[in-house]
Amino acid sequence: MQVIYKIVFGAFAGLSLMTLVGCALLRPIGTISVQELTDLDTETSRLGMGTDTDLDVTAYVTGWVKAPADILIDQKAPTLPESLKRDQWVPSIAYAVRHPTLGVVILDTGLRAGDCDYGTRPIYWVPCRNTPGSDLVSQLKQTDILPQDIRHIIPSHFHGDHISGLESLLAYADAPLLMTSASLDEVRSRTRFAAGIPSNMLLSDMRVELLDTHWKEDSWLGESYDVFGDGSLKIFQTGGHTDGHLSALVTTRSRTTLLTFDAAHLQANFDLSIPSGSTASHQDAVESLDIIKQLSLNIARLRIVYGHEPTQWVCIEGTTKIDLMSENCEFSNNELE
Ligand SMILES: [Zn+2]
Repeated sequence: MQVIYKIVFGAFAGLSLMTLVGCALLRPIGTISVQELTDLDTETSRLGMGTDTDLDVTAYVTGWVKAPADILIDQKAPTLPESLKRDQWVPSIAYAVRHPTLGVVILDTGLRAGDCDYGTRPIYWVPCRNTPGSDLVSQLKQTDILPQDIRHIIPSHFHGDHISGLESLLAYADAPLLMTSASLDEVRSRTRFAAGIPSNMLLSDMRVELLDTHWKEDSWLGESYDVFGDGSLKIFQTGGHTDGHLSALVTTRSRTTLLTFDAAHLQANFDLSIPSGSTASHQDAVESLDIIKQLSLNIARLRIVYGHEPTQWVCIEGTTKIDLMSENCEFSNNELE
């Protein structure tokens, strides 16, 4: 009798899993139209602006997600300390980069408003915490950034903690997305859910501008794109965590800030040279950490803001309470500069 139960239960479990995967495969997303990249730097050239642009960068903590240990950092690394062998609540950040004359570029969109848990149960599930008004659009509405000011949206990659707020941002500001064709291929793939890309966050129609033919070789960054054409905001490829992952180098009058996004989730990824345990390419992820390391050696007073380092954000007001202590929180408010 027990054998029959096992067979019936096994068949039921198998069918459920197949249904789940089938549903995930068939889930549609919005229409994606690819258009020519709008170079914002054309105006800059005309204005003759230099590299001392008075860029204004604001970071928004949109909430916190509970990230599995092996996604944050490779659990098999022999040098991994015990303290990093645990899941962690980590912040989900979005940035608004405002140029004095060329408008605003949004880097990542953070978590959506309301219920922000996501995933495909029981395969993976990401618990999330936010507070009313902590999503990007609600926070933008409290500033003087208007929808028409937003020229581009640049997702570092398309995991849920980075694009959860994309739908509401697209409803607020009709801006094109800048991305690589590697990211676009992942987004369009039927198996996107297997790469951690949630279809239900991509229901809006999107205008996409591809970076691939616009890269310029930079001695430190490799292939990079100068968003405003004056060196103030450069994005560059740091693949490995996902194909087509992007990081950003922001140069203001006072200093240069590297936004690693998930090329280094935590400061420990950087300090210990250990990439994420969940990568599209481990080798690419190691090479991306090397690029970051080289930048830190070559740029004076480089400030590195990691993708999800809790200690950099726990002292910021206006976010939900978290269960991690801060020893070296760098920011007294949510203004980077
Ligand atoms: Zn992330």
